[in-house]
Amino acid sequence: MKLRLLAALALLLPTSALADTLIDNINGISVDRNGTVTRFEAMLIGDDGKVVQLVSRGERAPRADFRENGRGRTVVPGMIDAHLHVMGLGLGLLVVDLSDTSTLAEAQRKIAEYAAANPDRPWIVGGGWNQETWGLGRFPTAAELDTVVPDRPVWLERVDGHAGWANTAAMTIAGVTAATADPAGGRIERLPGGRAPSGVFVDNARALVEAKVPPPRAADRDLALHRAQELLVRNGVTAVADMGTSIEDWMTYRRAGDEGRLRIRIMSYASSVPEMILIGGSGPTAWLYDDRLRLNGLKLYLDGALGSRGAWLKAAYADDPGNIGLPRIDGTALRNNMSRAAMEGYQVAVHAIGDAANAEVLSAIEELSDDYNGDRRWRIEHAQVVDPADIPRFGRHGIIASMQPVHQTSDRLMAEARLGPNRLAGAYAWRAISDAGAPLAFGSDAPVEAPDPFAGLAVAVSREDAAGQPPGGWLPQQKVTIEEALAAYTAGAAYAGFAEGRFGRLAAGERADFLVLDADPLEADPQDLREIRVLETWIGGQEVYDASPEPEQRASDAPGR
Ligand SMILES: [Zn+2]
Repeated sequence: MKLRLLAALALLLPTSALADTLIDNINGISVDRNGTVTRFEAMLIGDDGKVVQLVSRGERAPRADFRENGRGRTVVPGMIDAHLHVMGLGLGLLVVDLSDTSTLAEAQRKIAEYAAANPDRPWIVGGGWNQETWGLGRFPTAAELDTVVPDRPVWLERVDGHAGWANTAAMTIAGVTAATADPAGGRIERLPGGRAPSGVFVDNARALVEAKVPPPRAADRDLALHRAQELLVRNGVTAVADMGTSIEDWMTYRRAGDEGRLRIRIMSYASSVPEMILIGGSGPTAWLYDDRLRLNGLKLYLDGALGSRGAWLKAAYADDPGNIGLPRIDGTALRNNMSRAAMEGYQVAVHAIGDAANAEVLSAIEELSDDYNGDRRWRIEHAQVVDPADIPRFGRHGIIASMQPVHQTSDRLMAEARLGPNRLAGAYAWRAISDAGAPLAFGSDAPVEAPDPFAGLAVAVSREDAAGQPPGGWLPQQKVTIEEALAAYTAGAAYAGFAEGRFGRLAAGERADFLVLDADPLEADPQDLREIRVLETWIGGQEVYDASPEPEQRASDAPGR
C-alpha cells in the first residue's frame, strides 16, 4: 500500500481537498481495554492520519478519494511496548557485538570489519565476548586487539559485564601501566612473568578504562534512535513507554520530532527527579508531534533483579541463605521521590521485582493516595514476584501492572532456583493480578529481551517458551486469553500511559496505527502466534514498514550524516 505516495500526490492537487483513504477487504480486529473484540471489513482513514470510520460486515462502505484493497489480510492495532529502553536498544545496535563469535580469530575479524565500516568513530566499543566459548583457556590480550585496531582505542565488555578488554591505545589513554595497582574490588590482568597489564580488567578495575570512553555523540544518538525505530516497526511496535529517559535521550527524540524523523510514539518516564524537572518543568509535557512524544512522568528503581540476587525478597533466597537482596533506595526516599512527582501531576512508575519490593511500593501508594487522589495510574514495573497475600492490593488506587511476559520464560529455571518451590504462587502472575482488578500493560524490557510482541503474546497465553517448555505451561493457572493479552499490548498499554483516545485501538478519532499480518492472532494457537509475520506497519495513516522485498528507499528517514 502506497498511501504516502498518494498523500504526496494529493498535496499537488490544486484543490488540496481532504484526501481520505478507504482500506477494504480486510479482516480487521480491534480490542478494548477489557478484551472486547471489534471486527470490521474496512477502515476509512482521514488525511490527518486518524481513523474516520470502521465498516463492519454488511455495512455500506463510505466514498473515499483513494481505495486500497487489503486482499483479505488481517489488520490489528499497532503494538504498544509498555516497558522498554529506546536508546539502550538503539545504542546497542551501533556497537560491536561479539556474542555470536566462536573463536578469537572470528572475533578479531568482526572487530576489524566494524572498525573499517566505522572510520570516524573515535573509540571502538562493544561486547559479548567469552573466552570460554572461544576455547582459549585464557583471557585475550591487548596485543591481539592491536593487530586488528592499532590506531584507535578499543574497549569490549565480556558477556557477563564483569570484565573488559582493551587494546594498547585504550590503556595508554587510561594511563594504565605496569606501575598501576589493582583497585579495591578489581583486578588488572598481567602478562605472564611480569606486571605489564595484559589488556583485561576485571570488576572494579574496569572503571580505569571505561571512564575514558566518551559518551555517545549527538550524531550517534540520532543514528541509534533511527536503528531502534527500524527494529521496532519491523516487529510491529508502533508506540512505546521509554523507561528512564535522560535529558540527552529527550533531546534526541526532540531533534527527531523537529526534523520529521520520529516515527514511533514515545511515552517517556524520566530517569530521575532532576531530569523530570529539566524536561517537563512544572508537569507532564504536552503531546508533541501529533501524539508522538510526551513526558508522562518518573521512573524509579526500588530493587534489582532476581538473576544477580538484587531483587528484594521478604525471605532469604532459596539458593543463598541469609541473603534477601536489598532495596536500592530506602522507604523515605521512595516516598519523597514519588511525592515530588505526584504533586506536580506526573505519573510514577516504580521498578519492583521481589516480593518485599512490591509490598513496599504498594504500601507507599496506599499512603500517598490520601494526598494524591484522582486518576494517578501508579505503575508498578515488572511486578515479578508478589506475595499472594499482596496481590489483592494491586486492585486498589488504580494501580497498573506493567509486566513483560517473555521474562517469565527466560527466568523460569532461575526463578525456581532463587525462590524454591513454595514461593512461586505469585511469580509472573498476570492472571491473578488482573483478576485483582489491576489493568495490565505488556512489554518486552528491550534490550533485555527482543522487542517482539508476538513472542510476548505467545507467552502470555501459554506460559511456554519457544521450544514449548514446559508442556502445558509453567503455573498454567496464570495464563490470560489472547483477547486479554492483545488488550495489554494495545489499548491497555495506551491507558497505562494516559494515551487512551489517541492511539491503541482502531476506532473513530484515534490515530491510524496498525499492522497488516499474515495470520489472525485470535485464531492462532500459541506456538503459531510466535510465527505471525508483520507484513506492513502503519503509523498515523502512513506506511513506515513493508516486509515485501521491494527496492523502496527510505533514505529520507535516516538522520543526516
Ligand atoms: Zn527495564
